[in-house]
Amino acid sequence: MTQLSMHQRLPFDEATTPPRVSTGELPQAEEVERLVTEAYQRYRATTEGQVADYIPVLAEASPDWFGICVVGARGRSFEIGDVDTHFSIQSVSKPFVFALVCDAVGYDAARRRLGVNSTGFPFNSLMAVELNDDRTMNPLVNAGAIATTSLVPGTTAEEKFERIREGLSRFAGRELSVSEEVYASESASNMRNQGIAHLLHSYGRLYFDPDRATEAYTRQCSVEVTVHDLAVMAATLANGGVNPQTQETVIARGVCRRVLAVMATAGLYELSGDWLYEIGMPGKSGVSGGVVTVSPGKGGLATFSPPLDPAGNSVRGQLVTKFLSERLGLNLFASEPVRPQP
Ligand code: GLN
Repeated sequence: MTQLSMHQRLPFDEATTPPRVSTGELPQAEEVERLVTEAYQRYRATTEGQVADYIPVLAEASPDWFGICVVGARGRSFEIGDVDTHFSIQSVSKPFVFALVCDAVGYDAARRRLGVNSTGFPFNSLMAVELNDDRTMNPLVNAGAIATTSLVPGTTAEEKFERIREGLSRFAGRELSVSEEVYASESASNMRNQGIAHLLHSYGRLYFDPDRATEAYTRQCSVEVTVHDLAVMAATLANGGVNPQTQETVIARGVCRRVLAVMATAGLYELSGDWLYEIGMPGKSGVSGGVVTVSPGKGGLATFSPPLDPAGNSVRGQLVTKFLSERLGLNLFASEPVRPQP
């Protein structure tokens, strides 16, 4: 018997190509339209949650803004509500930039350098609970996300950011750009992220100059999108890395499913377990009110509504996603018992 060391990984075989999959299809278009409309009407009057204000410009968002968009893996889409409102992508950028980094450096190298577990401690650690307050290490919390940005190919912050902007644009199927207003507001108030970057740097877990990495990360969070853009981005992750509207291959298939695994583990921060328990799909939220959810093989769902719960996840986003996850049959863990033949 050989002893596995703490950080050693099992030597899993490469997946068979093409790997077999276990997914079905979305219901008929009319059914999707009916249910999305019902979800919108049902949760429009919800008043719970608080608009984020720790980045000053975000406090200007209306708590009434509300939009939902579904894009199927075949490219058809249905949307309702504030679908033309532009907002900053914020943390919803994180899984997509992680995907771009995996594509550039390999998903194994990315895992070694960034981590993909929700706490970074062994399964039975008490320390993990004691110290869990934002000390998790994966690409979807700020520390791991700044480290991810630092790994993006490029020798300057500008080069790295351009690579990110261009990659996010391929996910969305249109040219995205930065809101300079959000970037200025967040840059003037992001001391905490600067601190995280310097701390990571001191531990040798940042792969670029800490101030420049924070700058590129802050620009990444300030990229402007609509709820439709987010749904197309999610649908690309639902479609093996191929954008269903442009047919462009944005990332490799093997990267795509690993990104979804990390989203399932950590996409909604400390509430990721509750999210998975109720919704049963990989998701990612952002502080400006966006939430993306991926139904592998079926499609992407995005919601936009600024009022957040205390963990920083959109309240309406969670309610709508739960409603649609059940009605559209999206929960990955749901099964129907087979009746034995008489
Ligand atoms: N830019 C934000 C930050 O770094 C992103 C956080 C979020 O969307 N949850 O704080």
